[in-house]
Amino acid sequence: DLVAVALLLIGTQGIPRSSGLPDDLFIHDGQITKRPVRALALSALAPRPGERLWDIGAGSGSISVEWALCGGTATAIEAREDRVANIHSNAAAFGLSHRIAVVTGRAPEAVAALEAPNAVFIGGGLDSAMFDAIWSRLPSGTRLVAHTVTLETEALLGELHQRHGGELMRVEIAHAAPLGRYRSWDAVRPVVQWRAVR
Ligand code: SAH
Repeated sequence: DLVAVALLLIGTQGIPRSSGLPDDLFIHDGQITKRPVRALALSALAPRPGERLWDIGAGSGSISVEWALCGGTATAIEAREDRVANIHSNAAAFGLSHRIAVVTGRAPEAVAALEAPNAVFIGGGLDSAMFDAIWSRLPSGTRLVAHTVTLETEALLGELHQRHGGELMRVEIAHAAPLGRYRSWDAVRPVVQWRAVR
């Protein structure tokens, strides 16, 4: 099964010590923060041992897994049941089930009862109402990192950056791929990252 495949890869290759693990090490349905962009997410989240993460719109749970590998604990919040199952499988395959709690539901309602985090990653479902609900709950000093590929959420991140400061960054990645007898750059959707400290 899928967990067995992931376990086999992890078992034969070992787990690299850097963030930005291969996408193949995770069970996913295509909705996963890809390796180079995930490395940028973890760098911005800046995990320290013992810290707690809220991973909102956790998808496959890859961000939670990489956070927990750095010695922290994570709560993965995901609306879709099928993806929640993937998060459980990935946590188990990495031996991190005890460090990753999974909540099925939609933010911001789904985080209402959770203990305050040291950092928050928002990888899905961000809108103005959700942001206000989350931000108002965060203790000062909490790091927040949001990623988006949509123009609508990009506009929101532009406003939030103006209001709250922090760093706003756009990343454009392209991979070399065959084009007839030649090779060409195959561009990935640009990702906008906003990082701020409450
Ligand atoms: N970072 C993830 C990929 C995120 S894809 C990974 O590496 O695997 C965005 C996810 O957000 C989707 O799985 C979607 O179901 C979820 N989502 C969207 N709105 C949400 C909300 N309000 N609350 C919780 N999850 C949400």
